Amino acid sequence: MSSNPERVAGQPDRGEVTVDEKNSGVLFIVSAPSGSGKSTLVRRVLKDVGHLRFSISHTTRPSRPDEQQGVDYFFVTRDEFEGMIREGKFVEHAVVYGNYYGTSWEAIEAVRSSGDDVILDIDVQGAAQVKQRFGREAPSIFVLPPSFQSLEQRLRGRSSDGDEVIRERLSRARQEIQEYKKYDYVIINDEINRATDALRSIIVAYRACQSRLEKQIENILHTFGGNPE
Ligand code: 5GP
Repeated sequence: MSSNPERVAGQPDRGEVTVDEKNSGVLFIVSAPSGSGKSTLVRRVLKDVGHLRFSISHTTRPSRPDEQQGVDYFFVTRDEFEGMIREGKFVEHAVVYGNYYGTSWEAIEAVRSSGDDVILDIDVQGAAQVKQRFGREAPSIFVLPPSFQSLEQRLRGRSSDGDEVIRERLSRARQEIQEYKKYDYVIINDEINRATDALRSIIVAYRACQSRLEKQIENILHTFGGNPE
């Protein structure tokens, strides 16, 4: 599963990643308070940006009627999840609204090994852990609703969630938005087409960073007969 020579399968926490891992696909982290329209945004971008795939998380929350096992999430029991934590299977994990959520090494490596980039739709706690491990190889994007009122409207309008759940999400949103400072990019989702353009542009521009292209550039320069100096 892993290309990391220092990593022993099944061993917990391995700290910083090696240079080898850093040279494969980019991990684009996307976080937002619940109700910011993040899922729609991510879905749209996955549809029209090539070589970009979604990292399927594990969770202990029950599946919703429109969700599929192994497509939206891997739905597991608490025991299974805790077993995976002990075995060091997660890049990051966190408790969100009383349920475990986590990104497995297997989920991201399944994508990165084919050279594609990964989108991680994860909360602020998980984002901090991924950022710490992967640094510049994990650019982070925070999606902000245009106002508290618009967030409240969306939460009330979109679901069958009860008042208490909505209030909990709003209260959590107040704390989460303070985290925007830790992210590399911020998208204000005031209009979905504009926000989709912004996310797509960040991904495309990030891929063109000089430091990411060094190997390819070297090969091109080679066809010119190498460096004249
Ligand atoms: P939902 O239950 O609505 O699908 O997701 C609730 C929250 O959990 C969202 O903020 C989502 O980004 C976050 N989340 C989903 N998967 C993961 C994960 O693997 N790790 C972490 N840390 N958060 C996740």
